[in-house]
Order: sequence, then structure tokens, then C-alpha cells
Amino acid sequence: MAHDDHHAEGAVEEAYGPTGTAAGAERLVGASADSEDTAIEAALRPKDLAEFIGQPKVREQLDLVLRAARARGGTADHVLLSGAPGLGKTTLSMIIAAEMGAPIRITSGPAIQHAGDLAAILSSLTEGEVLFLDEIHRMSRPAEEMLYMAMEDFRVDVIVGKGPGATAIPLELPPFTLVGATTRAGLLPPPLRDRFGFTAHMEFYEPTELERVVHRSARLLAVEIDAAGAAEIAGRSRGTPRIANRLLRRVRDYAQVRADGVITREVAARALAVYEVDERGLDRLDRAVLTALLKLFGGGPVGLSTLAVAVGEERETVEEVAEPFLVREGLLARTPRGRIATPAAWEHLGLTPPRQPAPGTPGQQGLFERDGGS
Ligand code: ADP
Repeated sequence: MAHDDHHAEGAVEEAYGPTGTAAGAERLVGASADSEDTAIEAALRPKDLAEFIGQPKVREQLDLVLRAARARGGTADHVLLSGAPGLGKTTLSMIIAAEMGAPIRITSGPAIQHAGDLAAILSSLTEGEVLFLDEIHRMSRPAEEMLYMAMEDFRVDVIVGKGPGATAIPLELPPFTLVGATTRAGLLPPPLRDRFGFTAHMEFYEPTELERVVHRSARLLAVEIDAAGAAEIAGRSRGTPRIANRLLRRVRDYAQVRADGVITREVAARALAVYEVDERGLDRLDRAVLTALLKLFGGGPVGLSTLAVAVGEERETVEEVAEPFLVREGLLARTPRGRIATPAAWEHLGLTPPRQPAPGTPGQQGLFERDGGS
């Protein structure tokens, strides 16, 4: 329990979890890109700001930044994009380049382990080029320090030699635009954060926005879909365009094989039932966690480890893969005493909460004993 207590603290801020959690990437409702996504996303990406759906604030602000830079005939300021995986950060970086009429180079923090890796990239940039650095918070320290200088003065010091004889050779860089992406701006050291001229926070998408994403992708994939079908997919997409596009592809398969190829509400619902993605976008694992919490532990509070054993998963899987979305949806809460289910959780699973005093009071004990003995 003590271990759980430690994890409950600040856990909600961790809600997005690390990008690319292995277990997350394989799920139909995982937000990280899988290999099929990577192959098909290029075709589905909006090419300019006007085509980019949702995020009205970010779009307006970015539009101003880019228009002003174009009018000055200069290079756009460095841009930091923060937000959960699959919300369109890579897409926006490509749009920035397209709107500026500039080429783009794409890399990521984990790919830059040595300052030398970064120096090689920076020194090969052309004037006005956009450098997209995904997961910028995962860059190594020395590379990060080199980046400070490059962002501010368009200059890097290349160290030649080792030990006392090492010399720093300054290297001028052409002006470029760095677009950094991170799950949370707070993960960045302040000196790095401060060097961005513009920071945009990407929000999860509204269902109506996701419907537009689904309609647009369906058109590009030449799939016939009606309004109710798009709404059905959008409602199960966890606020994330990448998931909406992925669910659309699975529903399309189903529509081809088991229906007449047209996606209606009924076809979408039947298809996603096959893939065990429910009306709210919960998958098998999410539901298993909730069901255990409700049926075995009377809604909690219960420790994370106990809950993990009950669903036969590692505690990390429950904590990093299942819980963030359940917390976001207001179905589960992490408290210092353990995990508890909210009234919405009971309702979602169609169960009636036990009539009893507030969770955690002695009345709760009886439930544990009854369940334990059966
Ligand atoms: P991130 O870099 O944040 O993980 P991506 O930019 O790779 O996300 O977007 C994932 C997928 O979602 C892409 O296929 C893209 O086409 C789609 N997408 C993201 N944002 C939008 C949007 N605003 N409008 C339409 N499609 C979007």
C-alpha cells in the first residue's frame, strides 16, 4: 500500500504516460503510432492550416505567427507544441514548413544521443528550414545545451579533440525554425522552454471535430460513410485523431467483409464490438480494470498492485496503459488510499453501486470478505 501511496501523488499529471509505451502502441485505442499508421498517415495528413481540423486557438495563433514571419520575409520563430500523442503535432510541424514554403527535417530526442548527432543535423540545415524534434524532452543533456545556443544565436561550438587540448570551433548556422514536440511543456528544462517564441498546447478533440476528421479521412480512403456512422467512430476515439483514423480503417474492413461496404452507425457499432472497443472508447483492458474495481473491490479504494493481480496484468500496464484514460474520463480516481471508482464507472458498466457508507469506511470491509471467500 505504501508503494501505491507514493504513486498516487501527482499521478494525474502523468496522465498521458510516456509516448510509445510498448503495450500502448499495440492497442487499437493506443495513441502512439503503429506501423500501419506510419504507412498510411502521410496520405491522411492535412496539408495546410485551413485543412487542419479543430484546435481553433492554436490555429489562429500559429496563423498570425506564420503570416507575420512571411510578411517580414524572415524565418518563423521557434515553436513548441505540447500535447498527448496522436493530436497532430507532427502534422502541424509539416504545415508550418508548407506554409513557410520551407523544407522540413524530422528527427526525435531519443535519436539524438550525442551533441555530435545534433551538430551534424544543424550544420546541414538550409536557410529557413524547419527542424522538427519530436519528444524533445528525451534529448541528452549535452545535445540540449548545444541546442540552446543554436536556437538563440544560430551558432554551435563544435568540440575538436579531447582533454586539455580540445578546442571549440564556432560554426555559424543559417536561420532555421525549430519545432519541438513534447507530451507536456513542463517536462522541459526552463532554459529550453524559454527559447521558444511560441508555445501551443494541443487539447483533446471534441466529438464533432473528430467526426469531421473521420469524414475527411473516409473521403481520402474512398470509403462511403454516413453522419451517424462517423459520429459512432468519433465517440469511441478518445479525443484523438490518430485513433479515429485507425478505428475508421478497422470499421472499413468490417463494412467490406460483413456488410455492403457502407459505414452506418450499426455497421460501426458491430465492427467495434468485434474489436472490443466500447461506446466510450474503452477496450478490453480498460473494462477489465474497471470491472475488477467494481465487482471485486466494491468500487475501492484498492491498491494498484492488488488491482493488477486481479486483472492478471503488470502493475505498470494498469498504471500507464489503462488508468490514464480512465482518469481522464472521470471513471477512476487515484487517491492516497488507493484506486476508487466514480459513480460514472458504475453507470458505464451498468452496475448498481452497493448501498453503503462512503468508500473506505468500515462498511467497505464486508465487501472484501464476501468477495474473498467466494
Ligand atoms: P502527433 O505527432 O501529435 O503524435 P500526428 O501529427 O502524427 O500526431 O497525427 C496523427 C494522425 O492524426 C495523422 O494521420 C493526422 O492525419 C491525423 N490528424 C491529427 N490532427 C489532425 C487534424 N487536426 N485534422 C485532421 N487530421 C489530423
